[in-house]
Amino acid sequence: MKVKNFDVVVVGAGPAGLLAAEELAQRDVHVAVLERDQIPGKEKPCGGYLTAKGMVDGKIPLSLVERVTSGISISIPNQPLRQVDYGNPVGVQLTREALGTHLCKRARKSGVEVFLNHKVTECIRDKGSWNITVKNAPYKFQSPLLIGADGVSSTVARLTGLRRRFTRNQLGITIQARVELSPATITERFGGRMEFYYGSDVCPFGYAWIFPKHDCLYVGIGSLLSATTSSLDSYLNYFIQGHPIASAQLEGGRVSKIERALVPLTFQNDSYGEAVLLVGDAAGHCSAITGEGLHYSIAAGRIAGQVSADCLTRSDVSARRLRRYERLWQCEIGNDLKWGVRLRNLFFRGSQTENIGTGMSLDYRFLKLAADLIVGFRPYRDTVLQALPFLLWQRICGLGRAKGSN
Ligand SMILES: Cc1cc2nc3c(=O)[nH]c(=O)nc-3n(C[C@H](O)[C@H](O)[C@H](O)COP(=O)(O)OP(=O)(O)OC[C@H]3O[C@@H](n4cnc5c(N)ncnc54)[C@H](O)[C@@H]3O)c2cc1C
Repeated sequence: MKVKNFDVVVVGAGPAGLLAAEELAQRDVHVAVLERDQIPGKEKPCGGYLTAKGMVDGKIPLSLVERVTSGISISIPNQPLRQVDYGNPVGVQLTREALGTHLCKRARKSGVEVFLNHKVTECIRDKGSWNITVKNAPYKFQSPLLIGADGVSSTVARLTGLRRRFTRNQLGITIQARVELSPATITERFGGRMEFYYGSDVCPFGYAWIFPKHDCLYVGIGSLLSATTSSLDSYLNYFIQGHPIASAQLEGGRVSKIERALVPLTFQNDSYGEAVLLVGDAAGHCSAITGEGLHYSIAAGRIAGQVSADCLTRSDVSARRLRRYERLWQCEIGNDLKWGVRLRNLFFRGSQTENIGTGMSLDYRFLKLAADLIVGFRPYRDTVLQALPFLLWQRICGLGRAKGSN
């Protein structure tokens, strides 16, 4: 069988893989990206909200922007929608297909060879090289270094032995509908605001969202996989048709597509091994509290590319040398990911989503803190420290109420 040789093979043409590859090619490394789909991003369920800090090079071409986000509305049980407006853009709404096509074009321009319709089925390391098999291809790929950027169910993580699979406790489950509505109606009802809904009727261990695009809305629900006993379909039906506020916001819309997907809610500590790295969702680079992953994948992808290029220059792709990748991403995004897990454990447990709601309904400052975190305006640790007085006050009020009822 013929062999195609590269310095690095990246599996997966999501944001993580394409950014890693682009960094490598810019450093004159011969790099291939193998992607199982025909169009990068087209089949990937994603809300498509990109925070300001996730902008690639600080800018995204205007042609990609479906709608600029400058505020957020939050719904909590028995309350009207509460709004936080920033007056300035805090992020943008995109489709993953447009983002994927754009990043793929950029990567190719830098010299990356992207192979679409290439599903990796086997990675075996032999005599210092990875032998990578692709389904139905009459050739194999070979490289001294392998990067697994192949998403939450990473084949590379499993085949290289870096990780088996995420457990149910480490995963979120999502369902998302595309709802067609005219641009004028979307502008009138949503303006530049995206909407988040909390409460046990919406979803006891998660939340729902409405992200307004140009001529459609992405309407989704996310929950903890381990805590979800029934299908999310019934929650989505209720949300679209029966929720007192959401159903009015969606009135007249037509559901044209429904997608389901998993999200990682725990990051991977061993994101590197002998001649292999994991990056993006494959390594759990996703916020456990909001499900935001684009910014983290882009950041980690870049770091993976830079460290890999450096290791290749030194002709040393040992785990000891690649460890620097993990140290660097921990420095850049590790704090947010760690605090995301802590916040998830705090809020999405029992009926705690009601408690977030109570806090937000009582105090605008708490609502604003939550909004800042969701739109990606404020680091997680900072949000927690600022929110502590409100959380303590709530706990004291809760204890008082419990005592009074005894
Ligand atoms: C419903 C939903 C909504 C979300 N909304 C948002 C949001 O609004 N904002 C945000 O920031 N984040 C959001 N996220 C998270 C975000 O989508 C991910 O964190 C992000 O896509 C991760 O990028 P990635 O490059 O690591 O992986 P992916 O984007 O998953 O890319 C992995 C790629 O690898 C390919 N692949 C997989 N296996 C193989 C194989 N064996 N061979 C070859 N190719 C393979 C896949 O086809 C895919 O193209 C959402 C997630 C979900 C599920």
